[in-house]
Amino acid sequence: MNVLDGTAPDATARSLAEQLRIVLVGTQHPGNIGAAARAMKTMGLSKLVLVAPEKAPDRDTQAMAAGADDLVAAAPVFASLAEAVADCRWVLGATARSRRIQLEPLHPRDAAQRARVAAASGPVALVFGRERTGLDNDELQLCHAAVHIPSDPAFSSLNLAAAVQVLSYELRCALLGEEAGGTTVARTRPPAGEVASHAELEGLFGQLAEALEQIDFHKGRAPESAMRKLRRLYLRANLDSADVRLLRGVLADTQRMARLAGGTSTGGNIG
Ligand code: SAH
Repeated sequence: MNVLDGTAPDATARSLAEQLRIVLVGTQHPGNIGAAARAMKTMGLSKLVLVAPEKAPDRDTQAMAAGADDLVAAAPVFASLAEAVADCRWVLGATARSRRIQLEPLHPRDAAQRARVAAASGPVALVFGRERTGLDNDELQLCHAAVHIPSDPAFSSLNLAAAVQVLSYELRCALLGEEAGGTTVARTRPPAGEVASHAELEGLFGQLAEALEQIDFHKGRAPESAMRKLRRLYLRANLDSADVRLLRGVLADTQRMARLAGGTSTGGNIG
């Protein structure tokens, strides 16, 4: 399974996604309901729930859903947030303001990880507020935790559907696990010294290609595939300039030995 090559997530990720519910409270613009549905569907989420929308879904909803209208058509409508989340194991409120709330807001990435864990034991709700006023205090009281997208504090409020998009993306990454975009960066060790420049790396790859020829590594096969894999491997290691010098030293000695062996070799295989 690989999110980057577009392969579908496995059955576990799909069944966890079914437990994740996006709840829109008191939405004022029907277009935002459609845009939120589209945002969800692109991230493999399908359970949309509406709480007392100001206006019922309409043509604007459909236009903005752009093919995700099935989520809107299937969305139950509740009169209150309490009813919409009554059966949930974990309820997370998305808030544009990091101040003024009693709950310590979680970072989206941590919130998504916790949502994934909670989804294994039952439904999980991610609750979004009204465009103008967000969630009121009573509604926030119903949430077990808050999540805040770390936007610019001077202009912190995202469009409702944009907030749904960002948090749905984080949920998808959490469900897809290790291979999801971003975790590779987190796993990469920071280089000890100055990161090797592009030219330094190309110098290393050039010398590596030469050395592999000299030791007859490819044995008649085209060198491209091995070189592609070796490049990937070295790039994963996040080499600094000193690492590159060390590796080039190893290659230089390898090449020197190959030249010596070449001079005396009978062409046979050693051992
Ligand atoms: N003026 C409102 C903004 C509401 S935006 C307010 O200050 O609360 C509509 C909804 O989008 C919010 O209730 C919240 O659920 C979500 N949202 C917007 N920006 C967000 C952010 N930075 N982090 C998390 N959720 C956000």
